[in-house]
Amino acid sequence: MPGEKSSLLHCLIELLPCNCLLCGRLHVGQFDLCRECVCELPYIERACDRCGLPLSGQTRICGACVNRPPAMSHSVSLFHYRRPVDRLIAGLKFHERFDYGRCLARLLGQFIQQHYSDRELPQVLVPVPLHWRRARHRGFNQSAVLATTVARALGISLLPELLWRRRRTAAQTSLYSAAARRRNVANAFACRSALLESGIDHVAILDDVVTTAATLNAAALCLRRAGIARVDAWSIARASR
Ligand SMILES: [Zn+2]
Ligand SMILES: [Zn+2]
Repeated sequence: MPGEKSSLLHCLIELLPCNCLLCGRLHVGQFDLCRECVCELPYIERACDRCGLPLSGQTRICGACVNRPPAMSHSVSLFHYRRPVDRLIAGLKFHERFDYGRCLARLLGQFIQQHYSDRELPQVLVPVPLHWRRARHRGFNQSAVLATTVARALGISLLPELLWRRRRTAAQTSLYSAAARRRNVANAFACRSALLESGIDHVAILDDVVTTAATLNAAALCLRRAGIARVDAWSIARASR
């Protein structure tokens, strides 16, 4: 059967040595990175269960989420936005290094698989959309590229067209107050509800880098208003302000 053959071929290819994307050493593995480089990545150890903000101590929910619960039920960010993850993401976004994107997405996919071993996986994955002008300028949406690999790794459906951006927004990093960031992205997204099959009530959204959770919250709110009961938010990295 072609499916079996291609997955066998895929396994064999993964057993061939290749050069680590970060240190260049020859290695055998499934992530395009050697074992040492995978271990040294800047993983987020503890984070707010709702918004993904890195936390220290034993708290599970950050103060901001206690005061104003966000639209997403659960958030996962894999890395701090630091070297070498920032370099890999910039390579994907600005130099079309799709091998960097595949590597990061597979790491996130593997983490999500373990992380959700005692929770229900969402039925559908939706990348956070770019405004069409920015997508046309770049030629692709990096979140959609990442989401394709993550959805395949997890065996869940991908709905890249479910959300769209109604308007361009200022970069969230240029705004200094939480209220200004919320205003900037308020109603920035719209949902093509006709694409939703009946019975879909749990969706995950995926972004490459999260600076504050305001963008994810606006996207999640849009899906909640379209009738999705649970929206989880996943990202490769979280930038600290
Ligand atoms: Zn390496
Ligand atoms: Zn939080």
